[in-house]
Amino acid sequence: MAGAIWVLGESKGSDLARVSAEVATLGSALGAAAGLDVVGVVAGASPDGLAAEFARYLPLVHSLAVPEAAETAFASAVGPSLAALVEREQPAYLLVGATSDGRDIAGILSVLLGWGVIANASAILWQDGRPEVEVSILGGKLLTTSVFTGQHGIITVRPTSVTAEPLASRGSVVPVTVSPEIALPAVTVVSRVAEESEAVPIDEARVIVCAGRGVGGPEGMHLVQALANELGGTVGASRAAVDSGWIPYSQQIGQTGKTVKPRLYVGLGVSGAMQHMVGMRTSETIVAVNRDAEAPIAEVADLVVIGDLFAFVQALISALQARST
Ligand SMILES: Cc1cc2nc3c(=O)[nH]c(=O)nc-3n(C[C@H](O)[C@H](O)[C@H](O)COP(=O)(O)OP(=O)(O)OC[C@H]3O[C@@H](n4cnc5c(N)ncnc54)[C@H](O)[C@@H]3O)c2cc1C
Repeated sequence: MAGAIWVLGESKGSDLARVSAEVATLGSALGAAAGLDVVGVVAGASPDGLAAEFARYLPLVHSLAVPEAAETAFASAVGPSLAALVEREQPAYLLVGATSDGRDIAGILSVLLGWGVIANASAILWQDGRPEVEVSILGGKLLTTSVFTGQHGIITVRPTSVTAEPLASRGSVVPVTVSPEIALPAVTVVSRVAEESEAVPIDEARVIVCAGRGVGGPEGMHLVQALANELGGTVGASRAAVDSGWIPYSQQIGQTGKTVKPRLYVGLGVSGAMQHMVGMRTSETIVAVNRDAEAPIAEVADLVVIGDLFAFVQALISALQARST
């Protein structure tokens, strides 16, 4: 289908990454506005299972089998085959999630295909016969709009930019093969370290209790965790809390951390620097607890509790426990 919009499906563990489902939904809306077909592509050693999952979101998914050595980094393993498939099928645009692998693949395909990349889209509209890509910059202070000067391009899309919506009926999966003429120097993965956390990953959590510098240290973090447990949520953090060594970087929210969109975000001792707010401002309900009534987080909060966070959290935990007995 020459001229189509393609969406790359990625895995997270053995499942489809949530961002891929989101990008498929965004791609479908773009395709409907443009009158273009929207096609998924999943590449890997055994892509059929993931392709079938991806077909819950798209009417047609290419399942591209690529000999993939376990110790080779994903993007360098599948990049040449994806580029060969794109050259053969001639889609117009490729959308990928702005994940570590997605960014790597966008870079590799840009070089192999000579296509431009617009990175970190928060929205894509179809205007004047081409995609118009919105990117939030300077920690969310400015929204830029970019277009490609040519007829092709790759767009990486920030997680949680849209809500994924499955199709009414599952699409079809078509196995495809290619013989790429080039091989990239393999980037070797020397070790993989699983994150030690039983909680829901922060970018998928429905409830986040976020620790800021105001939490004061490891003792305060126990209280944050206790509240998260009561609410069935995951602990997140500002960069100040991460830099202080109270919590791993994987839990950082913001410009240099993760973008989150929970149903409930509770910020404890978080001031609301623009670099933090760019990662949480689209949360459905924001509660901020801060002893400073002028803290910038109040600008985006639905409810601001002005006072000492320790007294508030202890009282809230007691109230929640009393309610459940
Ligand atoms: C390039 C760049 C990228 C960055 N990326 C990120 C990012 O991804 N994520 C991020 O979070 N930051 C990021 N930052 C850092 C950011 O600018 C802020 O420094 C950081 O977010 C501040 O964290 P904080 O709100 O926890 O701390 P502070 O700004 O120090 O705020 C602490 C708050 O706690 C309140 N407080 C203190 N004690 C109590 C108490 N007992 N009860 C109630 N309230 C109390 C204070 O009133 C204050 O508002 C970045 C900065 C730069 C330059």
